[in-house]
Amino acid sequence: MLTLNDITVRFEPKGKPPVLALDDVSLTVANDTFSVIVGPSGCGKSTLLRLVAGLEVPTAGRMELDGQPISGPSADRGMVFQSYTLFPWLTVRQNIMFGPQLKKLPKSECEDIADDLIRAVHLTGFENSYPKELSGGMRQRVALARALANDPRILLMDEPFGALDSQTRQLMQELLLDVWQSRRKTVLFITHDIDEAIFLGDEVHVMTARPGKIKQSLAIDIPRPRGITTL
Ligand code: ATP
Ligand code: MG
Repeated sequence: MLTLNDITVRFEPKGKPPVLALDDVSLTVANDTFSVIVGPSGCGKSTLLRLVAGLEVPTAGRMELDGQPISGPSADRGMVFQSYTLFPWLTVRQNIMFGPQLKKLPKSECEDIADDLIRAVHLTGFENSYPKELSGGMRQRVALARALANDPRILLMDEPFGALDSQTRQLMQELLLDVWQSRRKTVLFITHDIDEAIFLGDEVHVMTARPGKIKQSLAIDIPRPRGITTL
């Protein structure tokens, strides 16, 4: 379980007034559930996700994952950004192998992990392609595979499909649900799109405008599948 208790984040940029980005946010996310966060632009959604990723430090409050305090980035949390952030000088396979190689796993094991994920995200045949040779949807599938390569407990996704056309987005939503169900991950997902939130989420947390607070948490009790059919 992921728990955030009374989290406050105040940025203090040099020469500018301080920004209270998150104000006393508490949130509980059960293991293996799909939770979505929605809220107006600038309300602190990315800040919240970056905190959980260990890329920001809270000004006050506590965060725990399965009873252990979260401090700094760790292989138990994988992140996917809207802008893909792939390494342009590495191939698809090398991008996915990057995390396992950092952990100093044997090369053959890193290759096996990458090949398994390449199949899971339907990129067979593109192992040796470079990111610039791929479409947006394909790049985001590489980013998803790379985030899964360390077999994290939690997958953190910050508007991952925001830059994709609606047909690609729909395919990505279905692929993500497939991966989430088959690999048993906890997902924390940010979107601006309320249809996407309801289609994907077991729970939708609605944030207020800055300073962000969780205004309401809704359980989506509609059984899957929820309307989208495979194209
Ligand atoms: P969007 O929907 O546009 O992506 P968001 O909900 O993700 O917005 P954040 O990016 O978390 O919002 O930003 C929350 C607030 O904190 C904003 O006012 C932003 O300008 C501010 N902020 C974020 N990072 C920093 C920083 N490093 N220094 C100063 N202010 C920051
Ligand atoms: Mg954001």
